[in-house]
Amino acid sequence: MPKAEAAVLRQTNTPMSIETIDVGPITPGDVLVRVRAASLCHTDLEAIEGALAVPLPAVLGHEAAGEIVETGSAVETLGVGDRVVLSWNPHCGACFYCDRAQPILCRQYLANGPIGFHFDGKPRLACKALPVHQLMYLGGFAEYCIVPAQAAIRVPDMMPFDRAALIGCGVMTGVGAATRVVDLRWGDIALVIGCGAVGLSAVQGCRLAGAGTIIAVDPNPARRQLAHAVGATHACAPDQAIDLARSLTDGRGADAIIEAAGRPEAFRLSVEAARPGGQVVWLGKVAVNEQIAFRWGSLMQEKRITRSSYGGAKLATDFPMLARAYLDGKLKLDEMISARISLADVNEGFAALKRGETVRSVVVLG
Ligand SMILES: [Zn+2]
Ligand SMILES: [Zn+2]
Repeated sequence: MPKAEAAVLRQTNTPMSIETIDVGPITPGDVLVRVRAASLCHTDLEAIEGALAVPLPAVLGHEAAGEIVETGSAVETLGVGDRVVLSWNPHCGACFYCDRAQPILCRQYLANGPIGFHFDGKPRLACKALPVHQLMYLGGFAEYCIVPAQAAIRVPDMMPFDRAALIGCGVMTGVGAATRVVDLRWGDIALVIGCGAVGLSAVQGCRLAGAGTIIAVDPNPARRQLAHAVGATHACAPDQAIDLARSLTDGRGADAIIEAAGRPEAFRLSVEAARPGGQVVWLGKVAVNEQIAFRWGSLMQEKRITRSSYGGAKLATDFPMLARAYLDGKLKLDEMISARISLADVNEGFAALKRGETVRSVVVLG
């Protein structure tokens, strides 16, 4: 089993340190992946800042792609050399929620995630003989990682690693919200709040699902321009969003709203901008104990409001489909990469993410 350079978080609100860790051994259901690209997501930042509790030391990074270098003895679906996108939602397939096609609520997944090891409760990484945890069963900020085989999804060999990485979290969540969670009809008027990686992906999901008008909402003009580049037909600042949505709909409001900003005012805007009978998906989040106030009338009139963490991801179907859409020119990912950085620059990458300067920085390895 290999040694790997990894960015290890030893204490919240301190920089990750680049250390050499031991990777392995793998169990029969695991695969060993040589990580080739891992992008920086806000959820990693929550772990760094302590808002998301992760046992330390831990390797973060949950949006990654690489190639299989070894498979466990029970793995039949993947082989050495396969190019894979990694997912942070392994699931047991047999619990109450898995049985109801809600793998994001899988009991095993939710019970073991906070422990930072795999479903068997055992570590896969170590540093100087002491266990190292993996964020969300993954730990992409390392040269190698071990994941359950079902969390490594094969994509075409032509798919570039840095763009493949984005599929694993932000792109899946945004595109999935539009294609798997809301029921968009051909020609519908959609409104997307927040134009980070998830929002820009939601814009594209709306386009792929056949929306006729896509309004992108973000206070940052550069982000609005990006939204246009990936398929938004209109873009505006948050304070203009309701007027714009109504002006395009005879005063009704948008058919479908996808919120991807994670701010109280964005959640409020999402329901205010929806037409009677419209659909709202919330992808963003605030601290779990934070209260958000709504004007009650904005929640009425048969609106359907859904909160989704992963855009209704169907991993084995959706990851290859998203990769194929990129290769066919239908899904734009190049526009979402703000910077390609080395593992040593990961702390500065998160500082830039926090300052709102980047959509996605991607750590490129090997
Ligand atoms: Zn993420
Ligand atoms: Zn389950």
